[in-house]
Amino acid sequence: MLTKRLNNGVEMPMLGFGTYQVTDPEECKNSVLTAIRAGYRLIDTAVAYGNEEAVGAGIKAAIEEGIVKREELFITTKMWFRAFETEDCRNAMEESLKKLGLDYIDMVLLHWPYGNVYAAWRVLEEYYEAGKIKAIGVSNMEADRLIDLITFNKVKPALNQIETHLYCQRLEEKTWLQKYEVAHQAYAPLGQGRANEMFSEDTVKELAAKYGKTPAQVLLRFLIQSDVAVIPKSVHEERIKENFDIFDFELTADEVDTLKKLDKAAPMIGNPESPDKVEFAMTW
Ligand code: NAD
Repeated sequence: MLTKRLNNGVEMPMLGFGTYQVTDPEECKNSVLTAIRAGYRLIDTAVAYGNEEAVGAGIKAAIEEGIVKREELFITTKMWFRAFETEDCRNAMEESLKKLGLDYIDMVLLHWPYGNVYAAWRVLEEYYEAGKIKAIGVSNMEADRLIDLITFNKVKPALNQIETHLYCQRLEEKTWLQKYEVAHQAYAPLGQGRANEMFSEDTVKELAAKYGKTPAQVLLRFLIQSDVAVIPKSVHEERIKENFDIFDFELTADEVDTLKKLDKAAPMIGNPESPDKVEFAMTW
């Protein structure tokens, strides 16, 4: 598995398994188990997905089956902004550890940069320093807030998880992430299954044919070669395996450049700091 060395030295798999909207406990447990059997080592969940217990059950089953040891896995969860006051965030951390059935979590992110971000960040720092979290980071955070957070805190975020795909490549944001040594992880790397045009772009189809791969595999490979970690989600065994099978081909530099030109800088989920998005988020 290709890994990325985070700014604190921790190695993170460049490919992981997403679990957003996998709310049925049995389906979630089985999907996580299928993913680990297929070779995934990073599993991404969040308090807000309501599936940490089921993810934990999948992890436990995989360990009991002897497929992996705990230390070979990289588990990410995210704190919800409604719990960003100090005591609430501590309680939420304890809940996450309990629900996941883990002694430590590999990565904890602040899910959205709303509410008392600083109080929550300092709780993550506390858990990080106590060894209960191996790396801490943010999600949906634009560069301006990220620079501010870095300036006024002890621990620098190791990662920003943000919507990134062919049509929303975050090329400008990426330069800031690189400058501050914050790893870039794509959520919705397949456009959440909504932007089907991505799969039928001529260039994507041509590259898929050239390498004997599917459009989804080309889209994921493109991000990884652009130094963007990916966490595609599926509950179907075939697709779970398909999305993992992207390490036996390599796009040329010219091909990567051609795909780069297809960027529309167009998020589907919305930019985290646009007022209409923030206003909408306040209803969550
Ligand atoms: P995604 O881009 O991974 O798309 C998933 C959808 O793509 C599937 O439901 C299916 O419809 C389709 N799909 C999957 N594999 C395919 C294949 N091989 N061929 C064709 N179609 C395929 O979207 P996502 O689930 O939103 O994002 C991935 C993960 O990122 C989530 O599961 C979650 O863990 C995380 N996430 C984080 C945030 C955040 O705010 N931090 C937001 C959304 C998602």
